[in-house]
Amino acid sequence: MVGKIFVWDLKKLFFPSRDECLAYIRELKWGKGGKVRCICGEEKKIVRRGKTTKGAQRYQCKACRRYFNDLSGTIFAHSKLGIEQMFYIIYEVGLNGKGKWPYELVSEISLQTKIKSYDDIMNFINKIDKAIDRGEIIV
Ligand SMILES: [Zn+2]
Repeated sequence: MVGKIFVWDLKKLFFPSRDECLAYIRELKWGKGGKVRCICGEEKKIVRRGKTTKGAQRYQCKACRRYFNDLSGTIFAHSKLGIEQMFYIIYEVGLNGKGKWPYELVSEISLQTKIKSYDDIMNFINKIDKAIDRGEIIV
């Protein structure tokens, strides 16, 4: 055998791609076929302004000049984790005690990525727990 089996690569076969994750988030945020809307209420004077480092669509509101993106105001905003990793963590945490324990997720994901800080992963797990409490994630 020439190559090695990397478990994280196998997970990519079973879990959605980044584009599929982003499409899922877009539908959650704006609704199916829904209009992009600024927090100022503007819907018409919104222009696309490239992508974020995570690949999310960025927008600028021409009415109030604000910048925002498809992740703004969601649990996926302000995290150093990749979108696919966040979906994987939500899946495991959402297994409601039958999934991996937080310390297992932390060691697994920090091994597979360049993320050095356990805080990034634990912060996201805490965000998931709060979203479950608010009824925004149904387990
Ligand atoms: Zn605006």
